[in-house]
Amino acid sequence: MNADLHCHSAVSDGTLQPEALAARAKANGVELWALTDHDEVGGQRRARDAALALGLPYLAGTEISVTFADETVHIVGLGIDADDAALQAGLAATRGGRRQRAIEMADSLAKVGIGGAFEGALKYVSNPELISRTHFARFLVESGVCSDTNAVFRKYLVQGRPGYVPHRWATLRNAVGWITQAGGLAVIAHPARYKFSATEEYALFSEFKAHGGRGVEVVTGSHSAADAARYADTALEFDLLASRGSDFHSPDESYTDLGSLAPLPTRLTPVWVALQARIERPA
Ligand code: AMP
Ligand code: MN
Ligand code: MN
Ligand code: MN
Repeated sequence: MNADLHCHSAVSDGTLQPEALAARAKANGVELWALTDHDEVGGQRRARDAALALGLPYLAGTEISVTFADETVHIVGLGIDADDAALQAGLAATRGGRRQRAIEMADSLAKVGIGGAFEGALKYVSNPELISRTHFARFLVESGVCSDTNAVFRKYLVQGRPGYVPHRWATLRNAVGWITQAGGLAVIAHPARYKFSATEEYALFSEFKAHGGRGVEVVTGSHSAADAARYADTALEFDLLASRGSDFHSPDESYTDLGSLAPLPTRLTPVWVALQARIERPA
């Protein structure tokens, strides 16, 4: 099945509105879709309504920022009740420090001669509670500092580079807990992106399981075929369900379009097998 269970709208750091994403997913042959905005469920109703109107089955989703072993880890929640009060409170708390962080990011960029970054990034923000590094990256491209947003993340906004501000996100326990008590299934997003030692990665997967986490992204926009093979093994080792999602943000920035991923390895059990009762289906 062509499931795409990870992408972003303008409600977080994507450039398309939820309705445009639904239309793009449908046009690209997606058969099960989830919008997973960072730390936010504000676009869920629009995404769901647009998907169902197009005849596209939908799973409510989000992607929660977590701090684990001094690194940022992303946990995707699928099949959540987006109206759940405890989930919404947890996400609001997780979003809480973003504005102050953005002010400090702009101060850090000003020190290397890049002025006006806070106001510049804000021009790209549609949700005032969700100023992200991606919005700064768009400003740095617009000002000619870098040629594209991927180049920005090599020279700026990452540890040891101008514009980087360390930040404490949610705990792994809380993120998995919010998702699970809201009826959803927690998934470790794009595991190949984290700079963990083997010991730290083992701790991440073990603790994730102990908190009730159920899945891992195996096929995703930032994974090579080798990464997918490696995390297919990890899924089996930890008895986790496998997820698949492009992590699409923008037609101008994302290498992997909605619905254009490789299939999941057949030896794995897909997350949607366990999420059948949570899928919203067209009438
Ligand atoms: P934030 O939540 O504000 O720390 O921003 C994280 C977002 O920045 C991610 O969700 C990506 O959209 C983007 N990002 C981070 N690292 C990279 C990278 N190396 N290349 C492209 N985008 C990145
Ligand atoms: Mn993002
Ligand atoms: Mn992510
Ligand atoms: Mn993402």
